[in-house]
Amino acid sequence: MDIREKLRILSAAAKYDVSCSSSGSNRCTPPGGLGDACSAGICHTWAADGRCVSLLKVLLSNACKYDCAYCANRRSNDIPRATFTPKELIDLTVEFYRRNYIEGLFLSSAVIKNPDYTMELLVKVAKELRTVHRFGGYIHLKAIPGASPRLLTEAGFYADRSSVNIEVPSDKSLQYLAPEKNFASIYAPMNFLAERKLEYGPTARLRGPSFLPAGQSTQMIVGASGESDYQILSLSSGFYNRQKLKRVYYSGYVPINADKRLPVLTTKPPLAREHRLYQADWLMRFYNFRYDEILDEAHPNLDLELDPKIGWALRHPEFFPVDIQHADYEAILRVPGIGVKSAQLIVSGRRFSKLRLEQLKKMGVVLKRAKYFIYHPDTPASLRRLYPEMVRPLLLPRSKSGQLDLFAGSPLALPA
Ligand code: SF4
Repeated sequence: MDIREKLRILSAAAKYDVSCSSSGSNRCTPPGGLGDACSAGICHTWAADGRCVSLLKVLLSNACKYDCAYCANRRSNDIPRATFTPKELIDLTVEFYRRNYIEGLFLSSAVIKNPDYTMELLVKVAKELRTVHRFGGYIHLKAIPGASPRLLTEAGFYADRSSVNIEVPSDKSLQYLAPEKNFASIYAPMNFLAERKLEYGPTARLRGPSFLPAGQSTQMIVGASGESDYQILSLSSGFYNRQKLKRVYYSGYVPINADKRLPVLTTKPPLAREHRLYQADWLMRFYNFRYDEILDEAHPNLDLELDPKIGWALRHPEFFPVDIQHADYEAILRVPGIGVKSAQLIVSGRRFSKLRLEQLKKMGVVLKRAKYFIYHPDTPASLRRLYPEMVRPLLLPRSKSGQLDLFAGSPLALPA
């Protein structure tokens, strides 16, 4: 098969892996516009130092011996199949890099023959890029569940990041939808890589190359099985705390295969739910929220109409209003409309003067949200209580609330 045809098939086959941030978009600009977003081919991700890097996102093979219900590449699907040789992939990466198309490689694969055979080929690509071509670009390499510790260790020394996809949020659902897999086979490489990263961590740099400097990530499909958001966030929290994963990616279930084990979607894929999960995930990673604060057994699913930070605030009126002038940093961080940077500016800026609304605005505080949750010198002394039932409709998107600011002209009105 012509290498272009292989590239067409195997880059399209990789588009369902959302471990790269831009892979969900597919948009063409009209004539005269600038730039296209394409769901396959070259995708973008962010390096540890915040740079946005473009990656050739491709599978080594889509000829899978497994038969996962949700996957386009499963054995039982009648689709064009292709497999790169390591040399073809290496040449493509080097040539694309020289032409400045890409800055790195995102390489995954279906399971060909067996996990070790597949992993050996993936490692060979990364190893030759690094050692023969002295390729210094970013490499994201999939770890194949069931691959031997020797191959996983080698992969860790040549790749910047590795990922093993958890696929669905519970072992029971995974075994139902992907009978050849189970959580134990996925946790094993994840735990192994986490332990090796500790062993060969930054202190080991003096002794040799660093091990997975950009850490590990994983991905799960949301909505293909019945788990609640509470279960999903509990799982993600475990990944961040125990396996020290850098990112968990959520992918709203898109029906690809007609399979009686999968739900029939009567509406669009659950993109709003996916978005809310990313917001909740952000709260766990940057705002010090625990998963069981964001949701609990009594509230197992995220509110699709409001972001999870507002949802938490409305369920905890006793916590508000937060006194901007005196509250500690952690409390300020919990105010909807105040981000990490703004909270830091507030804490340092209030040492010199009492902060007025204008100053808060300049610090990046989104007052149209924050104003219901803070107390500051411009707040009337009588407004020391949050009324969730009154505030909630005001924070809904305009189309949902269908009304203007109810507080306008009332004692609760604050300058926005
Ligand atoms: S092992 Fe991976 S590529 Fe193969 S069917 Fe399952 S999800 Fe698809």
